[in-house]
Order: sequence, then C-alpha cells, then structure tokens
Amino acid sequence: MLELAVVNTAPGEKVLVVEDEADVVEMLVRAFNRAAGFNVITAADGAVGLRRAREESPVLVILDLMLPKMPGLEVCKILKGDSLTRHIPILMLTAKAEEIDRIVGLELGADDYVSKPFSPREVVLRAQAILRRGETPAETQSLVAGPIRIDGLRHHVSINGKVVHLTSLEYKLLRTLVQRRGRVQERDRLLSDVWGYESVIDTRTVDTHVRRLREKLGKAGDAIETVRGFGYRLRES
Ligand code: CA
Repeated sequence: MLELAVVNTAPGEKVLVVEDEADVVEMLVRAFNRAAGFNVITAADGAVGLRRAREESPVLVILDLMLPKMPGLEVCKILKGDSLTRHIPILMLTAKAEEIDRIVGLELGADDYVSKPFSPREVVLRAQAILRRGETPAETQSLVAGPIRIDGLRHHVSINGKVVHLTSLEYKLLRTLVQRRGRVQERDRLLSDVWGYESVIDTRTVDTHVRRLREKLGKAGDAIETVRGFGYRLRES
C-alpha cells in the first residue's frame, strides 16, 4: 500500500515520465496518482520527452534510458546542458545490466536512479525525496571557504571570482560540506541531508557526485578530502 504522503508540489505542477513500455508507464501513472500532489504527464520516446520537458516545465523528469528515437542519456545530457531545463531534477530508470550508463547518467547530472524491476512505491519515494530537497531561509546566506565562494541567493559558485556551473545536487553537496568544514561527513549522513533519504541506499551515489564536484572545482576541489571508511570532509583552509 502506498503512503499518501504530501509532497511540496503546488497544484498543477507536473512530473514527466519518459518511457516507451506501456505497462511501466501505466504502473507509474497509477502510483503517482495515488500519492497526493502529483500531476503526471508522459512521453513515449526521447524526442517527445525532450520537447515536453522544455515546454511544460515539470518539477521532475523520470527518464528511462532505453528509449526509441533518442536514448535517455542523450535526453539527460541535453536537459542538463540547457540553462532553461538544467534545474529540473532527473530520476533515471535503468536495467541492472546498464551500470555504466547509470554512472554516466549521474555524471551528466541526473539526481538518482532506480533499477528495473522496481516497485512503483520505490520510485514514488525516491521522487518525493528529490522534491523534498527544499530550502530554508538560512540557505540563502553566502559562504566562503578559501577560494570557493557560494552565493546563496543566486545559487552561484565561484572559484577566485570565476563562476563554476554546478547541478542543483552538486550545489547542495558543496554547500553542506562548506557549512560543516573540518568535520567528517559520513556517506549515510550526506545521503540523508543532501539527497533527503531516510534509509541507506547505494552510497556509491555519493562517491559519484563527489568525484564530479571535485572535477568541476579544479584545484580548489582538492580541499574535499576522502576519509577512508567514513566519508568526506572539506579541509579547513
Ligand atoms: Ca524503455
């Protein structure tokens, strides 16, 4: 039985499901309709998915990787490369055998994935976790750590004055590490605070995003230290 959890979506806000398998689409539509607050729209191929994401501004895209016309990874890459759609979180649907694609998807900026076969409830819970990553007024403050400057109002990150383009998840991860600099953050804790998960799922999600964040920060990214067996820490400068 699905929980009737209330999600912070306003009436009329849309979740876009991009998937060609009709039975999967039907199962997801039913599950999301039962969870309050969702208005589900669908697309049966990558090209239509891309168009609907651009035209209808969904609050979340649930994206299957195996799609006709345009593969899911290509859709993901285009959405994350476009300033109009970059902020829309993406939850990928992947087959077990698609581990490489899943990693590539996370590196392209997808927020999370669910492996097939999945329970519709799991997809709804993951979607709710992504959408719960809302903000409090304290998060609009600006923060500085060495050469890294976080503009909390505009969501800009700059290194020595040069803007670095981060996904919404990378931004939140960096902000959390900077706020707690000098203290080790366990992967589980980061999953709960940054990703919004109540229970431990695959902690490799954290590793993938930290690696990507480090790359984007360049030399300044060296300040994010791996603490073997525990998690990550931003070095105090
Ligand atoms: Ca498919």
